[in-house]
Amino acid sequence: PVVSHPPMPWFGMDIGGTLCKLVYFEPKDVTPDEALEEKETLKNIRKYLTKNSAYGKTGHRDTHLQMDDVYIRGRRGTLHFIRFPTSEMDNFLTLARNKGMATLVSTVCATGGGAYKFEQNFKKEVNMRLHKYDELDSLVKGILYVEMNNPHECYYWANLSDDKLCEKREFDFKDPYPFLLVNIGSGVSVLAVYGPNNYKRVSGTRLLYMDSSLGGGTFLGLCSLLTGCNSFDEAIELATIGDNTRVDKLVKDIYGGDYERFYLPGDLVASSFGQMITRERCMRARREDLARATLVTITNNIGSIARMCAQNEKINNLVFVGNFLRVNPIAMKLLARAMDYWSHGTIQPVFLEHEGYFGAVGCLLEIDD
Ligand code: ADP
Repeated sequence: PVVSHPPMPWFGMDIGGTLCKLVYFEPKDVTPDEALEEKETLKNIRKYLTKNSAYGKTGHRDTHLQMDDVYIRGRRGTLHFIRFPTSEMDNFLTLARNKGMATLVSTVCATGGGAYKFEQNFKKEVNMRLHKYDELDSLVKGILYVEMNNPHECYYWANLSDDKLCEKREFDFKDPYPFLLVNIGSGVSVLAVYGPNNYKRVSGTRLLYMDSSLGGGTFLGLCSLLTGCNSFDEAIELATIGDNTRVDKLVKDIYGGDYERFYLPGDLVASSFGQMITRERCMRARREDLARATLVTITNNIGSIARMCAQNEKINNLVFVGNFLRVNPIAMKLLARAMDYWSHGTIQPVFLEHEGYFGAVGCLLEIDD
């Protein structure tokens, strides 16, 4: 039987507030006939994307996330994961035009706010129409697809009480519903997922969905202001060697020890940045301490929101995604410890290897419809 496919290349795009995520499906089952017919431009784009891991000055392919032997619409191929700062969209479009994109595809699946913001630019620069999909539909769809196709996708942090023994362990996602999905991008959003096509973002009186403007963007913004760092990766490197207790006020700084009446351990942060109220303490805080304190502040706030949503919904399965968690074990362990502490060991949050790419994957899958 003749199966009709949408024309290649197949892309899914998630144009977020900070990063643009691009997922590219490289077909691996190309028949000799098909290869003969394949346009030169298409071949060149495929080669360009799959033979490089850096594009222009700021485009980057996450080769460690590549997924081989996956099926989309009956075709076998490889998924490639590419990201660049959304602020570079103009350069991206110029590059795409120079590669001849305008002569190929006419429609690309896109999600995220940028699918609206840049719609005209896509039309004008590369003669592309954006097929827009709902951000949360794409996110949930992408998670379920990747989880099904990658046996090592889900993990949790084991041995939280001992930093030396604390390590990633594979998690079996076989019975996930319902789960609370916490997406930490530029901001934070939380949704309750009850089944593959059943999630809620908002409900009349009860808190089901919550947005917070304090997210990954806040961490990076404040950290840049306070430390002069120039990138997310640098901010994380600084935080890794920093000590937030030189910046924050802990329970023991106030009580002299644990606050036993309320079971508050002395090491708990009582007041984020609470030490920075005297000149002398400010002078003593190093860049890396400020980076660590910013990371801890933002992460703890996200942890509290997640916990409140979980309590409200009586949902014990928590899944954290979003690029804030990229190269960020400090935040992941902090979230895991916070959940463990407040839930008396009943909540063990799950993390996913493809962190920020699920919206783009979900969007690519829409090519099915
Ligand atoms: P959005 O869709 O809002 O852009 P993401 O899930 O892509 O959200 O996450 C963006 C956040 O990820 C940033 O605010 C920052 O905290 C973090 N991040 C991780 N890697 C990078 C990077 N290379 N450049 C900028 N931010 C990054």
